[in-house]
Amino acid sequence: MESFAEHYGSLYQTVNRCLPGVDMTLIDRAVEYAREKHKEQKRKDGSPYIIHPLAVAEIVAEMGLDTDAILGALLHDCIEDTDASFDDIARLFGSTTAELVEGVTKLTRANFSSSEEAQMENLRKMFMAMSKDIRVVLIKIADRLHNMRTMQYQTPEKQVLKCRETMDIYAPLAHRLGMQKVKWELEDIALRYLEPEAYNDIMAYLSAHKEKDEAFMHTIDEKISQRLNAMGIHCTVYGRIKHVYSIYRKMDSQGKAMDELFDIYAFRVVVDTIPDCYNVLGHIHDLFNLVPGRFKDYISTPKPNMYQSLHTTVIGSQGIPFEVQIRTWEMHETAEYGIAAHWKYKQGEGEGEEKDFEWVRRLLESQQDTDAEDYVNSMKIDMFDDEVFAFTPKGKIVSLPAGSTPIDFAYAIHSGVGNALVGAKVNGRICNIDSSLQNGDVVEIITSKTAKGPSRDWLSICKSNQARTKIKQWFKKERREENVTHGRASFEGEMRRVGLPLSITIDPEVGPQLLKKLAFDSWEDMYAAIGYGGLTAVKAVGRIRDDINRALKLQNNEKQVILNTKSDTGAKTNRHAVNGVIVEDIDSCMIRFAKCCTPVPGDGIIGFITKGFGVSVHRIDCPNVQNREDSHQAARWVRVQWADDEDQPFDTSLELECITRDGLLLDVANALTAARVRVKELNGKDLPGGRSVFSLRFEVKDVDELDTVRNKLLNIRDVVRARRGQN
Ligand code: MN
Repeated sequence: MESFAEHYGSLYQTVNRCLPGVDMTLIDRAVEYAREKHKEQKRKDGSPYIIHPLAVAEIVAEMGLDTDAILGALLHDCIEDTDASFDDIARLFGSTTAELVEGVTKLTRANFSSSEEAQMENLRKMFMAMSKDIRVVLIKIADRLHNMRTMQYQTPEKQVLKCRETMDIYAPLAHRLGMQKVKWELEDIALRYLEPEAYNDIMAYLSAHKEKDEAFMHTIDEKISQRLNAMGIHCTVYGRIKHVYSIYRKMDSQGKAMDELFDIYAFRVVVDTIPDCYNVLGHIHDLFNLVPGRFKDYISTPKPNMYQSLHTTVIGSQGIPFEVQIRTWEMHETAEYGIAAHWKYKQGEGEGEEKDFEWVRRLLESQQDTDAEDYVNSMKIDMFDDEVFAFTPKGKIVSLPAGSTPIDFAYAIHSGVGNALVGAKVNGRICNIDSSLQNGDVVEIITSKTAKGPSRDWLSICKSNQARTKIKQWFKKERREENVTHGRASFEGEMRRVGLPLSITIDPEVGPQLLKKLAFDSWEDMYAAIGYGGLTAVKAVGRIRDDINRALKLQNNEKQVILNTKSDTGAKTNRHAVNGVIVEDIDSCMIRFAKCCTPVPGDGIIGFITKGFGVSVHRIDCPNVQNREDSHQAARWVRVQWADDEDQPFDTSLELECITRDGLLLDVANALTAARVRVKELNGKDLPGGRSVFSLRFEVKDVDELDTVRNKLLNIRDVVRARRGQN
């Protein structure tokens, strides 16, 4: 079991070594605070929890980060695991520290384990994009490093899970950030749990050959040092065995056993200046035999992760090849600590750090890090500024353009999901489908089988081309409503032209027979087919014309019509339109339009003979018309039709169902004005549940104009439904 005092002492020393002259009071306060907050918690090995933040803080200090980052590391589990809040930490340790802790908490909560290879790059990007401050990423990497170092206390399942995640996310990130040392350690520990046999084999081989290896490295070391000293070049030479995981990978990719591997030795020559680097290179090539094709100049062309060195591979007198890396001290720091080293140089230069990290974001997107072209390309594209990453509830990650909405998200999953979208939950809470998504959001799309499909204003709400294209496709293919409207208009026009009453289509006895003959399940389907152009109105009417005439004749014989029956000859003679309506069999009578359904030309209509007020004209789909056959007033219903070429305005009404919001009434009024509609009435009424209803009464020429107005109203944001008045 490890003790607090031990770890605190070690942290204290490291901080003083890496940040000489730093004021320890704040750090001590954070240590005490974290110790108090975590006092009930224990590590898996039984030691007090505070050991962990202390160790993480020490790693962060070793990286060369500043006091804020050390405080952040000490407090990094406080928000997640204790009752401490962002505000508490901000008040006691400043808002920068609080933001770092919050950033780490966000990364802790996000789920970065995913089995899909293709998702890894996105996960890494999201990891970066979620952290506005690069120090958050560094603290999180330090956190993972310490957890890896103490992995032996975890269950075997957890070990494998965490090590996978380390291989998938943390080690590649450390690599991209240029932190070789951390990367190697992470990889070696992960390998130990993921491939224990291979790991143990390599370790056994290395320890069996330790003496031989050391002797070899010593010889080479001596040889290089002697030559360079003789030439007056100030240098330090290190020999080492490459790290376990890189040996494992070589064996794996080359299909070789350990003793067949060459190139497991690497030497580093660290010098003071860049000219010295090239000088040393010349001497190395003079001392040993060059292996062709292995020389790389990362000084003139640094890797995207800022790595600089000269690399060459040579063969010594014993016939063993080895790599030599030549670099300056500054390059060495960068190679070991990467971005953190860069950060170190920035210290003391005051504010403006945020900007300096832009390059990190840029370099991270580059997958390949060996050639100059990629490097140049990676500098050109600012990927993270215009991307956002969100999760499905099952943890699949979806990458979208910045500012994307749940609509974009839904279409990114599947066009079927988008088309059925009726709402969305973000992080478990219902939210507007036009709200913009943030990195790491978990988005649940609520769909409904009865969804009416995308609305036109989604086109201006969504940010991704994918969503826009799919919505447009939907409108193109599935404009059923519009097709039905157009189809119905041409069908009705054709029925009028040949002098057949529309009401026959809804006759409970005749209607279904006609449909059967037409081979459609419903009139809507048939109208839609005409609208698509799959069937012409002339053909449709032609197919049922005889049946209709037969049925009408039958009805006329059976029914007692209270009106003076005139012979059914000469379809249009002796008929006078009143108010644009012709009443069949009646020469001239008073006409009123029913207030309940406000029919307009183009609607199917039927007349009711009122007591003393002439004929009242209803739409055939008006609820008041539905049961006319059964009622004792059946005989008072008469066939009526619109007169052709009438150009007068007709009153009609619509009822808009809306989601209540400020300015909606104004939007509705503006839309009506823009449509050049004469409005006679516009009333709003709030309903419970954040809904409201607007009742409109206005004038239109016919059904086509009404449909145009209706569609315009439906395009207003938050207007959910527009129904023709029916009461
Ligand atoms: Mn932790």
